[in-house]
Amino acid sequence: MTDTDTIVALSTPPGSGAIGVIRLSGTQAISIVSRVFKGKELEAQETHTLHFGLITDGNIVLDEVVVGLYKTPRSYTRENVAEISCHGSNYIIQQIIQLLIRKGARAARPGEFTLRAFLNGGMDLSRAEAVADLIASNSKASHEVAMQQMRGGFSKELAALRDQLIHFASMIELELDFGEEDVEFANRGQLKQLILQIGAVLDRLIASFETGNVLKNGVPVVIAGKPNVGKSTLLNALLNEERAIVSDIAGTTRDTIEDELNIGGVLFRFIDTAGIRETADLIEAQGVARTREKMKQARLIIYMADALQQPAEIRAQLEELQALDIPHLVLINKADLLGAEGKEAFAGIDAFFLSAKEGKGVEDLKKVLLEKVNLHRINTDETLVTNIRHVEALKNTSAALERVLQHIDAPVASDFLAMDIRQALHYLGEITGTVTTDDLLENIFSKFCIGK
Ligand code: GDP
Repeated sequence: MTDTDTIVALSTPPGSGAIGVIRLSGTQAISIVSRVFKGKELEAQETHTLHFGLITDGNIVLDEVVVGLYKTPRSYTRENVAEISCHGSNYIIQQIIQLLIRKGARAARPGEFTLRAFLNGGMDLSRAEAVADLIASNSKASHEVAMQQMRGGFSKELAALRDQLIHFASMIELELDFGEEDVEFANRGQLKQLILQIGAVLDRLIASFETGNVLKNGVPVVIAGKPNVGKSTLLNALLNEERAIVSDIAGTTRDTIEDELNIGGVLFRFIDTAGIRETADLIEAQGVARTREKMKQARLIIYMADALQQPAEIRAQLEELQALDIPHLVLINKADLLGAEGKEAFAGIDAFFLSAKEGKGVEDLKKVLLEKVNLHRINTDETLVTNIRHVEALKNTSAALERVLQHIDAPVASDFLAMDIRQALHYLGEITGTVTTDDLLENIFSKFCIGK
């Protein structure tokens, strides 16, 4: 997949801006720019320096720019890299890119800069993927996780495991070389010990995906409750805008509506649902089925009732919720309508009272939500797996190691052991990129935006 073309692309978002950065990478990156740059002899300049000058197309001055130079191997891609900071007009940017292409560069494909960084040994695959996550991160928590992964915390842990396994694999391969002779270089007891140890690390990494995924994609919170208790009103109050439809007719929120909200640095995905209620209405019945499905995926269920509801009914619903075994929070809305006995009537129900319509209690509710999901205090220095591809590879590694264990317990020929260990190594290698196929690379890097 490596080629010697010099590639070019806009690295800042398309559209007008104060500046636009055009990046080139490849053997010819600096010489191509020097052909259109007036001011200095760029090729004679040191690496990691900035140069002010003009970009000209023949007699036409296209822009005043600053060019940054990064010479191989001290650059992102480890190739020669030039970055032209020009004025952020779409027209100027397109003119300069077209000019550079005429002078010998080629338009970069999505993710091609990062692909080159990977292929040239600048970073391993999981770190390259973290770059994509970093660009996509939209909350403090997802940013921290991507940052941690990009710095290589995740890869380091796996590389160490892989080294230990490789050691055993080679010992066992050695046994194979001795064929008939009954020798055991790899101590089976020690091998078992190592595999159990690795297994524990794998289990922890696989389990961390739940948290990692939630930090990256948002905490799924289902808002359930009878129609008309104020679910849409609450969602609107949380989001501060009229997103869901509010109405007086029971059952108007027919389908599920999802909205994202950043609370205290954690991204929440609120899922408003059609009420938990048996109904003859076909459309709504489908909505109810979907509610149940969504509930199972929730990290937290908000069960909402209103102050006019019978406490007995709320208690009955609570029992159903408890059976689901998912963390939940009971909200009693319309606190403004509480009767003379006030909250007394709901004694024994552990609930949070608010008035969504008047916005009373909404800010406190945000704090309660943060406490409930308990993610804001997650130590992001710890390795968190956020990538579904990594989880799959970890699970496959785990399964292969499980087979090794079985084979140790029911002694089989060394070649079976060797085969299973090799498989485990293969799957671990898939994460860090020690083992890659073109399909896999294509799949990963095509998700990047052009210019990255
Ligand atoms: P949903 O069916 O659960 O989504 O309920 P809606 O959000 O559509 O609200 C139903 C009705 O209750 C609307 O008329 C709202 O204005 C009203 N409502 C919502 N929250 C409150 C509240 O805190 N106090 C009062 N008095 N009415 C509310």
